[in-house]
Amino acid sequence: MASALTDRLSRLVKTMRGQARITESNVQDMLREVRMALLEADVALPVVRDFIARVKEKALGQEVVGSLNPGQALVGIVHKELASTMGEGISDINLAAQPPAVILMAGLQGAGKTTTTAKLAKHLIERRKKKVLTVSADVYRPAAIEQLKTVTKQAGAEWFPSAPNQKPQDIALAALDHARRHYFDVLLVDTAGRLAIDEALMAEIRDLHAALKPVETLFVVDAMQGQDAVNTARAFKEALPLTGIVLTKLDGDSRGGAALSVRQVTGAPIKFAGVSEKIDGLEVFDADRHAGRVLG
Ligand code: GDP
Repeated sequence: MASALTDRLSRLVKTMRGQARITESNVQDMLREVRMALLEADVALPVVRDFIARVKEKALGQEVVGSLNPGQALVGIVHKELASTMGEGISDINLAAQPPAVILMAGLQGAGKTTTTAKLAKHLIERRKKKVLTVSADVYRPAAIEQLKTVTKQAGAEWFPSAPNQKPQDIALAALDHARRHYFDVLLVDTAGRLAIDEALMAEIRDLHAALKPVETLFVVDAMQGQDAVNTARAFKEALPLTGIVLTKLDGDSRGGAALSVRQVTGAPIKFAGVSEKIDGLEVFDADRHAGRVLG
């Protein structure tokens, strides 16, 4: 399958006939094309720089195998490095905890937290045969609590009521107590987001984390956020020990370069991808396939 990067490189390679190896002299030009392809895919600039440095190290002096020309060889190296950078780690939810296993959902408003909470509930019920409870600790938007109630019902999970006059920590602890007494395997805790990072939000979610001791703290991030995803990811990583990432809205037309940025900045594995607004629009993240998409 021809990719945008392959096309770019093969055009370039036509101008450097007869060079059977990736060399110091031709690699610079080729890496410039790789850099452009990654920036077009919205990978953040500092992340692109690091990535290019790693690829250069791997590419220099490599023999060109069989009929491959240096351009194709470099695409192979880039693809492999992208897939391994984005793909390390466990790709399913860790439930190795005394039940109920608590999963804390973190992210900006609009990232897809509530939707993903319900999608995960459905995944855990159907694939892992778990009894799942959800609760919303978003006391700022009554509509968010109602939204979680609706989508939880669609997922076939149970929902624990909460109200805007309660404290997020009290809600979470009441839900945990309920989950324990009624033998739930998993408690999914949806949290308040803001339109942008702010200190009060971070303090609140840190308190929730301390009270709940979740086995998973998932950072939900919108793939369409592009370059901004890096700053958001950094702020959440500083506030919380993230255990995984869910990249949402991959059904949109972004090339999904945010995956590489967020993975690099947080060090946490990308566990799932959101691929539609619907309750079954959640897939286990496939790094190899995603590498192909980022390269175009
Ligand atoms: P929250 O504020 O983080 O809880 O975000 P929501 O769960 O309310 O989602 C915000 C919007 O994004 C809603 O309109 C969702 O339907 C939509 N959304 C969430 N995930 C996806 C996805 O994977 N694909 C698409 N197309 N839309 C999504």
